[in-house]
Amino acid sequence: MLEVNDLRVSYGKIEAVKGITFSVEEGQVVTLIGTNGAGKTTTLRTISGLLRSTHGSIRFQGNQINDTAAHEIVSLGVAHSPEGRRIFPRLSVEENLLLGAFSRKDGAIREDLHAAYELFPILRERSKQAAGTFSGGEQQMLAMGRAMMSRPKLLMLDEPSMGLSPLMMKRIMSTVRTLQAQGTTILLVEQNAQAALKLADKGYVLEVGSIVLHGTGKELLASDDVRKAYLGED
Ligand code: ATP
Repeated sequence: MLEVNDLRVSYGKIEAVKGITFSVEEGQVVTLIGTNGAGKTTTLRTISGLLRSTHGSIRFQGNQINDTAAHEIVSLGVAHSPEGRRIFPRLSVEENLLLGAFSRKDGAIREDLHAAYELFPILRERSKQAAGTFSGGEQQMLAMGRAMMSRPKLLMLDEPSMGLSPLMMKRIMSTVRTLQAQGTTILLVEQNAQAALKLADKGYVLEVGSIVLHGTGKELLASDDVRKAYLGED
């Protein structure tokens, strides 16, 4: 579904992504893990069309999208739930959700609003409430619900577990599984390597802009290098 080949991305003279290659097959959960500044967010923002690559290619369902406008990439079926959630605090929950459907002209938007409410019932209970009053976990649910409102084929999640309690993190991760079971392909960026690798069909470890390791979620969880560097084990 997604093929990233030798991708390079720079901020001025600083190269943040240094020639990475990875792929996401339809139906998979694939994770990119790595410490602060490894280039994970930069990679997602480039796939979304918010940043431009300096080299390499990004193919989505066979079409090169390196130069495609961000709103067209959403229309092709790629949704991005960004780091920090970026909800609109003064707008209601429902208004935030409906903004996620901005690219659509079909008549099924109400149906998908219902689906978002089924996924996260608290969003229905608080649909008229200003989103800025929500806790971090609730805002994460809203950000994921909003991303799903574009009916994505590929959902990209940037650090969904950031700042959440262990219980809320479990809830979010189990929703990732539910979405996968419902047919959405997922690219998950996480600093919480353990939680991400438990879910993932496949994982890639990024260090300062390069992929240093890859394998199935199970293989990476069992790898000594990953255990030492990312799971805090000796
Ligand atoms: P984090 O989890 O902290 O977001 P990350 O793996 O997502 O880490 P990026 O945010 O992609 O990493 O950052 C990769 C590198 O690019 C870092 O060295 C960072 O300082 C640099 N960088 C990120 N955004 C900018 C920017 N707008 N201008 C200049 N440098 C940037």
